Amino acid sequence: MESVRCLIIGGGPAGYTAAIYASRAGLTPVLYEGMEPGGQLTTTTVVENFPGFPQGVDANQLMGDMRAQALRFGADIRRGTITSVDFSEKPFRLVVDGETEIVAEAVIIATGAAAKYLGLPSERKFRGMGVSACATCDGFFYRKKDVAVVGGGDTACEEATYLANICKKVYMIVRRDVFRASVAMQEKVKNTPNIEVLWNCNTQEVLGDDSGVTGVRLVRKDGKVFDITVDGFFLAIGHHPNSDVFKEFINTDENGYIITEGKSTKTNVDGVFAAGDVQDPSFRQAITAAASGCKAALEVEKYLMTK
Ligand code: NDP
Repeated sequence: MESVRCLIIGGGPAGYTAAIYASRAGLTPVLYEGMEPGGQLTTTTVVENFPGFPQGVDANQLMGDMRAQALRFGADIRRGTITSVDFSEKPFRLVVDGETEIVAEAVIIATGAAAKYLGLPSERKFRGMGVSACATCDGFFYRKKDVAVVGGGDTACEEATYLANICKKVYMIVRRDVFRASVAMQEKVKNTPNIEVLWNCNTQEVLGDDSGVTGVRLVRKDGKVFDITVDGFFLAIGHHPNSDVFKEFINTDENGYIITEGKSTKTNVDGVFAAGDVQDPSFRQAITAAASGCKAALEVEKYLMTK
């Protein structure tokens, strides 16, 4: 059975950054990048808020470059999904794609999170052409335009107020007659004049043409069907952290985010660390994920030194 010192799970900004630091530290990391190399960022187009790129950078290019940087220092990057783990004793045992066993002295979990979508065919069709699950990433492209945000939680309120600063008008599509968000966030929405809340509404279809999204067809609880004209359609109905496979051993919060210790990336299992969106319900940015990947690799280095 193959034995590695540092196993990194996840090919997003957190995983690749961890691989850069771990390989430069001589830890000969092996990284499994799963089904979606590059992570969530690859579902967007241009990244304009990653420092160091004054003109913005293509998301796939950015992730490809991070990957290439890790390879340059000797990281062993492989395609494969971790399908089960046993963290009950050391070295840790993991199974790749349901068949290949591997043991590791230290593990960095950087499996990210996935934005939830409504599941409409029209929503899929216009993904990246007006449909987005990240206002901070894509809001800027809708400057002085009208957009819609789906959801009534803290994320939706936060994204709607963020977009209201950039866009002409923001519709919030809320499926009940109340928000789920905290009172403070609700107040923020109420005090933002260019946000209009459409209560009791569900999205029937995202409308569009060759240029992208042009509107949304909504159905209200009383049966009324109507259209609104928007250029952007933002989903903010929650994220699902990719932590299921670790839950038997690793503590998570009620939403499935891995709990890390204070400012560190340590989990409840000594030798297992978590970085990026899988442990971050708040910030969820490429730059914050990369930063925590760096922290995790430095902590693994320290951990392996004291073993
Ligand atoms: P939440 O689960 O809190 O809210 C999801 C929202 O989307 C709800 O309003 C829900 O409606 C709605 N929704 C879910 N599915 C659908 C659907 N299929 N169609 C239409 N609407 C749908 O997720 P958030 O991402 O907002 O927040 C996750 C966690 O992160 C929360 O604990 C939140 O407090 C926290 N958070 C904190 C922030 C802060 O403190 N600054 C910022 C962002 C998040 P319904 O209410 O009817 O279920």
